[in-house]
Amino acid sequence: MQANTLKERLDAIHDRIAAAASTSGREVADVHLIAVSKTFPEEAIVAASALGQRAFGENKVQELVRKTNALGRGTEANPLEWHHIGHLQRNKAKDIVGRVDLLHALDSHRLGQELQKRLAAADSYLDCLIQVNVSGEYSKFGIDPAALDAFVDTLSDYDRLRIRGLMTLASPAEDPEQVRPEMAHLRCLSEGIADRCTGQQPLLSMGMSGDFEVAISEGATHVRIGSAIFGSR
Ligand SMILES: *Cc1c(COP(=O)(O)O)cnc(C)c1O
Repeated sequence: MQANTLKERLDAIHDRIAAAASTSGREVADVHLIAVSKTFPEEAIVAASALGQRAFGENKVQELVRKTNALGRGTEANPLEWHHIGHLQRNKAKDIVGRVDLLHALDSHRLGQELQKRLAAADSYLDCLIQVNVSGEYSKFGIDPAALDAFVDTLSDYDRLRIRGLMTLASPAEDPEQVRPEMAHLRCLSEGIADRCTGQQPLLSMGMSGDFEVAISEGATHVRIGSAIFGSR
């Protein structure tokens, strides 16, 4: 991809994020852009980083390990932040310890248990979001909204996990307005667990290339955008 094309796409996304934040009376600084770099080569990350993009999202552990080995935390001028954004298999939990700034999809007690064990062994901590399935049939993963309170309770002994908020994968929709109720539902659920989250306000990871403006108007603090930045996969 041509560097100027990448710059144009990133600039356009920044403009749209700013417009969506302003329309809903939010501060643009409260919306974090995660550039979803899965399947794209390291050069794409380096190019986006040179344009000032800091946070990158990956959903396969092997690829994350390869990219973090190659690029580490970036440079002083262009630091890198790594997000694991998809389902994480329990047997791969150990591989993300020390590599990831935010885990977006804590979705089972057994994964929490395994992470706690690995983090304790490494004397490390991990910021996590709980994936909630607010879309019903579409997503295979995520905690049922009705089971969220009980799930948070089961994590309370796991002192190595810092629960920071919630994440969801909305249903695919032609018209992003169709997923507004799912996003509003996630925000509502986050308010219900706010007192059990680390940080002042729960974080909300929702919104992708096709629906991030709706997500921002419903309170997203982290939007995960891949194809609109890097092109189709
Ligand atoms: C791939 C992916 C995204 C980005 O999707 P785009 O439609 O390319 O913006 C966001 N979140 C998750 C969990 C993903 O796997």
